[in-house]
Amino acid sequence: HNAPMIQIKNAAEIEKMRRACAISAAALKAGGEAIEPGISTAEIDKIIYDFIVRHGARPNFLHLYGFPATACISVNDTVIHGIPSRDQKIRPGDIVSIDTGCKIDGFNGDNACTFACGKVDKEAQCLLDVTRESLHRGIAAAQAGARIGDVGHAVQSYVEENGFSVVRSFVGHGVGKELHEDPEVPNYGTPGRGPRLVPGMCIAIEPMVNQYKYAVKTLKDGWTVKTCDGGLAAHFEHTVLITKDGPEILTHGWEEPEWTL
Ligand code: MG
Repeated sequence: HNAPMIQIKNAAEIEKMRRACAISAAALKAGGEAIEPGISTAEIDKIIYDFIVRHGARPNFLHLYGFPATACISVNDTVIHGIPSRDQKIRPGDIVSIDTGCKIDGFNGDNACTFACGKVDKEAQCLLDVTRESLHRGIAAAQAGARIGDVGHAVQSYVEENGFSVVRSFVGHGVGKELHEDPEVPNYGTPGRGPRLVPGMCIAIEPMVNQYKYAVKTLKDGWTVKTCDGGLAAHFEHTVLITKDGPEILTHGWEEPEWTL
């Protein structure tokens, strides 16, 4: 691995990041609100696509590396990169991970949340709560002057204390003019290791957490990533700006019930 090329955003670029991230968050929220028994993952994807386009942005997942949709929609034991399909209908009790984003004015937003369809069983709800909290532990560790390993360690230690496991094969990343930039942001790590965080960096922190073991497999479609043991998986993600005063969540909107674009 070569030395990372980490982009530091100036004030004007940060404003563009804010806009891209606000629309990304609102699009994710719209997708989450559409979840109900009987809706297909393709219908959810269409709602997100229409939302992004209506707000003058471009779906940045669509066609990236050949991905065929606006959102990755990953149900139950699918960890990430689920391909929306007209044949896949959401059922009561499912957990539904939606990962999506958009590009506007040359900058990208990226975020994800695992939503519950109605009431889910206790273990599933615990997985969602722990994964979401692990994201916020990771964000809290993303202080200027800290290192990427501090972020991963914060996520991993919280997840493992709670009896779940952190996926190793996929990681978070820098975000900016490209959806995926340096540095890599693993959800596991050693404190004090890795690239240093400096003001003006934007990173996507995105714990992928499995109910049982962390091993995952990619299906023959080349995209769908599932847990090897059939356990559930959850995925929460924010795009975060590092500032001298602490981390700022640029995609905060999807977590706030009253928030609108
Ligand atoms: Mg991401």
